Amino acid sequence: MAIAKNLDNINESVHTALTRRHKDVIGTGCAVKLVAVTKNQDAALVREAIDAGAWSIGENRVQEALIKAKILERKPEWHLIGHLQTNKVQQAVPQFDLIHSVDSERLVLEIDRVAGKIGKRQDVLIQVNAAGEDTKFGVAPGDLKELVRITSVLENVRLCGLMTIAPYYDDAEAARPVFKEMYQLFMELKAVSLPNTSIEWLSMGMTNDFIVAVEEGSNLIRVGTGIFGSRD
Ligand SMILES: *Cc1c(COP(=O)(O)O)cnc(C)c1O
Repeated sequence: MAIAKNLDNINESVHTALTRRHKDVIGTGCAVKLVAVTKNQDAALVREAIDAGAWSIGENRVQEALIKAKILERKPEWHLIGHLQTNKVQQAVPQFDLIHSVDSERLVLEIDRVAGKIGKRQDVLIQVNAAGEDTKFGVAPGDLKELVRITSVLENVRLCGLMTIAPYYDDAEAARPVFKEMYQLFMELKAVSLPNTSIEWLSMGMTNDFIVAVEEGSNLIRVGTGIFGSRD
C-alpha cells in the first residue's frame, strides 16, 4: 500500500516538475522514466513495487540483483546503478538491461568483450563526476570526450547517455548547477554523430533532488527511500 502511494506521489511530483521546466530544456523529451532503487530491500518489497507498476528496478550490486531476479516471477527491466568492478562484468552483462556506471576504458572494454561472447548488445551510460568529489566514481567532465570516443568504436556496447550522482545537499536547490552542467554535456553528446550510440538517457536525480533534476532535463530518475522508506 505505502509503496503504491509513494509511487503515485513521485509520479505526480515529476509531472509538476515537467510543467516547470524551462522551455530551453527540451533535448531530453517530455517523459521521465523512474527507476525504483531496491538495494538493501528484500525481494518481497521488490515484487510489491513491480506489481504497483515500477517496471524498472535499480540495484547497485550485481550479486544482489542476481539473487532477487531468481526469486521474482516477473522480469522487470534491470538497471545497474552502482560502481562495476571489472571482475563482475561477466555476471553483470547477462543480467542488466542498462549499466549506468561506465567510468573507465578498462571497464567498457571488458563489457564489450563479455557482451560479444554472449551475442548481446549492452546498453550503457557513462557516469560523470560532475562536481569532482573525491568520494564519487565517474569520469571528470574534461575526460568525457575521450571515453565517449573509446566507447563508440565498440560494437557490442551501445552508449545511450550519461549518469551523475549530485553532491548531497539538505537544500536540493544547491545541486541545480550540477544538473545544468550535465544537461549541457548531454546535449553536446547528442549533437555529435557517432557510431554505436543512441543518446537518449540523462540519468540524474534521487529521492532528495529528483524534482530539481527533472526541471533541469533529467529523463531517468533513480529513487529508493522515496519509494521504500529508509534502508537498514
Ligand atoms: C542508492 C542510490 C540511489 C537512490 O537513493 P535514494 O536517496 O534512496 O533515493 C540512486 N542512485 C544511486 C547510484 C544509488 O546508489
